[in-house]
Amino acid sequence: MIIDCKSIADAIIENVHREASGAAKTPRIASVVIGSDGGSESYLKMMEKTFERAGFGTCICRLAEDATTEQAIALVESLNADREIDGVIIHKPLPPQIDERRLLYSLDPRKDLDGLHPVNLGKTLSGDAGAIAPCTARAAVEVAKGAGIELTGKHVVIIGRSSIVGKPAALLFLSENATVTVCHSKTSNLADITKRADIIVVAVGRPRFLGREMVSEHSVVIDVGTNNVDGKMVGDADFDAIFGLVKMITPVPGGVGRVTNAVLLANALTNFTNNNK
Ligand code: NAP
Repeated sequence: MIIDCKSIADAIIENVHREASGAAKTPRIASVVIGSDGGSESYLKMMEKTFERAGFGTCICRLAEDATTEQAIALVESLNADREIDGVIIHKPLPPQIDERRLLYSLDPRKDLDGLHPVNLGKTLSGDAGAIAPCTARAAVEVAKGAGIELTGKHVVIIGRSSIVGKPAALLFLSENATVTVCHSKTSNLADITKRADIIVVAVGRPRFLGREMVSEHSVVIDVGTNNVDGKMVGDADFDAIFGLVKMITPVPGGVGRVTNAVLLANALTNFTNNNK
């Protein structure tokens, strides 16, 4: 069965729309875009559409490809100070001369929509239910729940240990009382581990990585991967090879990415509500 990620995303978006329409003012978010990257531009368009659909105001703040870290920090600090802006997204990839960590740290954590500022990561680690958690990691959990899976006691195997996906996903699944195993490039006997999982979250950044020998008929596969192969977006799971074999699987495109977008919107509503109390 293919997990209907569109319905899961739509439910989150409708919920945010309902809550935001009752607010005294329109929530506004700003996107910081430095330089131009094809992939980032199409993501930006999809994101703007989602925010507009939920009744949010949006604006795009652009800097040139050769902007310095100091210029980028100055822009972020002006958005921190702008009382009309409720949330800020720093779009990736950033040009190589930009110090990504310094830029992220310059963002007011109360305006961080990606949930990647250390203050928000710390709240996620401490199990704060109201934390702004990293969107893709949260989306993986929302997909599992939206597919009707009771997570308590389930064995979730996450392949990938990045700070933006694998590690925070482990924390969030733990908060749902799942038993979590995190695998990476140095893990031995990976297929033995993944085959025993109830849920496999695959976030390795390698097209069609998760093959038949790594799954079972009980596997629920949540594919985070977005790889460009000959102009086509392909996941980290070999969808065609394992579709008939596993219990459930997310599609790529239109799967976890779609829900990530909706979670970003939900994070924006949380920030707006917290900042306007
Ligand atoms: P990343 O930072 O490159 O991390 C990849 C992880 O995969 C690393 O932990 C790496 O292990 C592990 N890995 C690589 N080769 C492996 C192997 N042969 N066996 C086991 N583990 C292996 O990637 P990321 O930022 O987490 O992104 C992962 C994927 O998700 C990419 O396709 C990315 O485009 C996609 N993504 C999607 C969304 C969305 O919204 N759908 C958002 C963000 C990212 P080591 O740590 O040992 O190197």
